[in-house]
Amino acid sequence: MKRLAIIGSTGSIGQNTLEVVRHLHDRFEVFALAAHRSVDQLLGQVKSFQPKVVALSDETRIEDFHRGCREQGIRVPEVLTGQEGLRTVASAPDVDIVVSGAVGAAGLLPTWAAVQAGKTVALANKESMVLAGELLSKTAAATGARIIPIDSEHSAIDQCLRSGRHHEVRRLILTASGGPFRNTSVEEFSQITPENALNHPTWRMGPRITIDSATLMNKGLEVIEARWLFDIPEEEIAILIHPQSIVHSMVEFVDGSVVAQLGTTDMRQPIQYALTYPDRLESCGAGLDWSTAGKLEFALPDPERFPCLRLAYAAMKQGGTAPAVLNAADEVAVRAFLDRRIAFTEIPRLIEDALNAHSTGKADSFEGVMTADQWAREHVLGILPHARMAKS
Ligand code: MG
Repeated sequence: MKRLAIIGSTGSIGQNTLEVVRHLHDRFEVFALAAHRSVDQLLGQVKSFQPKVVALSDETRIEDFHRGCREQGIRVPEVLTGQEGLRTVASAPDVDIVVSGAVGAAGLLPTWAAVQAGKTVALANKESMVLAGELLSKTAAATGARIIPIDSEHSAIDQCLRSGRHHEVRRLILTASGGPFRNTSVEEFSQITPENALNHPTWRMGPRITIDSATLMNKGLEVIEARWLFDIPEEEIAILIHPQSIVHSMVEFVDGSVVAQLGTTDMRQPIQYALTYPDRLESCGAGLDWSTAGKLEFALPDPERFPCLRLAYAAMKQGGTAPAVLNAADEVAVRAFLDRRIAFTEIPRLIEDALNAHSTGKADSFEGVMTADQWAREHVLGILPHARMAKS
């Protein structure tokens, strides 16, 4: 029996992870669940999976949680709160695998704690690698922690890399659906509404990552994530638009052979791969249906309509704290777009402004990275009132 701590249990990754646990209940048990503030959903999960420990990072929700337990007759687990609660859960001696599934830069703290404690980390929080990829890789090498990606592209690359050795890799090819605006003209971009942008063609995900998929920033962040996960320099990581999202990513080897991983757009598959690695077990989802798969198309991304890609490569080249600034500026800009405070086309503009204004420092400590993150948030909030508004 492997014992899991699931960080971000009420989010999309957390819910899918619990479905995999339900499917593989003879292999996994839930030791801890951590959520931000979705108490109702958390109560349902506690009822079904009976964790020993629960962490609620928003302390104002503790009262509601206890009341919910009383009213629903749920046995009360140990309840931890705040940042310290997250850290404790992610490094608890009883935990074998930490599923790091929180959204945004907030996910770095539990990932960092788990890596320091030498855990196996099933990593869905790509921001961890964007903010502190080098630090996490070095620390993992020292503590014996193993980081196995859940992000579908990186899970695909991990699987493809099993057909060759590290020095035989010519390049990684990350596929991208292209989002809902793949065919939208550059003139129409400023009119894009949150409703348009939240309508992802192939994947069902949380709001931030869905907007990041529409700007292609998600792919930019994934290039940085891949750079550190697989120790491949950014100039050997390419992006390819593939609207059907059937090929999840590929690896090209030095002999010209390209190995691809294909599958359905069901996150339970990469989650299960990470949890059972290196074994492969029967999955609970359906396999690919070739009778409806149709044509597979590929195209190079358009840098003019999707400037976030250029910004991500630039931040990566800059190194140090620049990727943390890229991510934090994006988080604030995406929130402002969802709140209808700024136009869609202002997202990359605000990020570029933050990158230009930032003086890059070293990303060799957790504190250093979080200071840059905080600086970028304040910077973007400061220039937000001058950004172009969304048309109402
Ligand atoms: Mg992905």
